[in-house]
Amino acid sequence: MTDKDKIWQAVLKDVKNNCTQPTYDGFFSGTTLKKLDNEINVAYVAAGSTVAANVLSMRYISMISSSLENVTGSRYKVVVKTEGEYKTEDNVLKAENRTSKAYNLNINFMKEKIFNPKYTFDNFVVGESNKYAASAAMAVAKDPANTYNPFFIYGGSGLGKTHLLNAIGIYILEHKTDKNIIFVSSETFTNDVVTGIENKKMDEVRDKYRKADVLIVDDIQFFEGKEATQEEFFHTFNILYDEHKQIIITSDRPPENLTKLDDRLKSRFGWNMVVDIQPPDYETRVAILKKKAVGEGVEIDDDMEEVFKLIARNITDNIRLLEGALTRLLSFSQSFDEHIDMAFAKRVINDVISGSSSTITPENIKKAVCRHFKIKMSDLEGKSRKNSIAFPRQIAMYLCREMTDYSNVRIGSIFGNRDHSTVMHACKKVRGYISSDDEIRNVVKSIEESIKD
Ligand code: ADP
Ligand code: MG
Repeated sequence: MTDKDKIWQAVLKDVKNNCTQPTYDGFFSGTTLKKLDNEINVAYVAAGSTVAANVLSMRYISMISSSLENVTGSRYKVVVKTEGEYKTEDNVLKAENRTSKAYNLNINFMKEKIFNPKYTFDNFVVGESNKYAASAAMAVAKDPANTYNPFFIYGGSGLGKTHLLNAIGIYILEHKTDKNIIFVSSETFTNDVVTGIENKKMDEVRDKYRKADVLIVDDIQFFEGKEATQEEFFHTFNILYDEHKQIIITSDRPPENLTKLDDRLKSRFGWNMVVDIQPPDYETRVAILKKKAVGEGVEIDDDMEEVFKLIARNITDNIRLLEGALTRLLSFSQSFDEHIDMAFAKRVINDVISGSSSTITPENIKKAVCRHFKIKMSDLEGKSRKNSIAFPRQIAMYLCREMTDYSNVRIGSIFGNRDHSTVMHACKKVRGYISSDDEIRNVVKSIEESIKD
């Protein structure tokens, strides 16, 4: 037995534990592992029949991928086709010469630029929170070194920084195959410098980075406090910049807040484009869940949509966690062959969604209203009588009245110590709007939905 076969036997064993016998017999028996491509992290699986290949591709990709990860410790993108399809492609590949795009991609992937093929612009959902970052990233990808250079993206964890870096890298590779792209985490850069110094091989390290046409460094905040690394990066930056090469950097903070970073670096990072990514709003969160589910070959029905809304209401500031909940939901539903609805979600991802009904507080209502109207909390509580503030304030008061057990007096007190008659007046007005104006009714409904369980 080859290593490949052993790996596949172990994967099948794992799969067997995670699905029903009929599923296993019907679709998994008769599969083989054709090839594990460790350069681009793709696993090519051959299925016994066209039907099996289709079903596996539609429903079991993530399950195979996670079993493969359990067995090998690495994450692979899984491709399932029939034996016949592989044969045809082999012949085509042999006929093509080595300058094909696929070949170039492979070469580039080999050189330490392990881009995650899932992180493309196509798979990036654009909303209010990330639209500037996404469009600047696209501009850089289309014309490296000629638009925004350096390009600096910052934002909290799990908001899509690394995704955008991959998207830029993949886009450039696909359109300009001759570009030498170096994509590293700041840890890798640091390690290279440290080993370079230890082994007296700094020349090689310098050579490697200074040959980049595009240098991408992820999570630069880890350079803080590392003097030698910063020094080296400073010189690399200057050389690349002078040679008109693209530099792209991410961080969890804006440059000025990287307190333990050399001022010269900080100022360079701000030389051109600095964009931030904010936590996504409710609609974007739902859109991301839908897109990921569709990407997994799932058909979304009303029950599932309801569950997605529930997840989106509960996980608000980290897309990685949002995805985690979805993955758990999908893989349990596949393993147990169960339909995804609210009852199922309450069993499977209860930790994520529980307590949501008790989270309706005036605080949350105010936040939701502010999010919707893009105003500040302090506006709601402040004195302004401008309609752009007073109207949201009235809606927030109304929702507090409708959704919590706060009295008019108490609601008045948390809106800048207003009189209870003001609250009563606000509620009456909003009720009037709701019964007479479709647009306002929808606005109130959607805010309410974003708050509610
Ligand atoms: P960061 O690097 O900012 O910590 P990542 O780029 O690793 O975050 O994103 C975390 C996860 O969320 C990834 O799986 C990524 O694909 C996903 N993600 C983030 N933003 C988006 C988006 N706008 N559309 C789709 N997926 C996203
Ligand atoms: Mg990241």
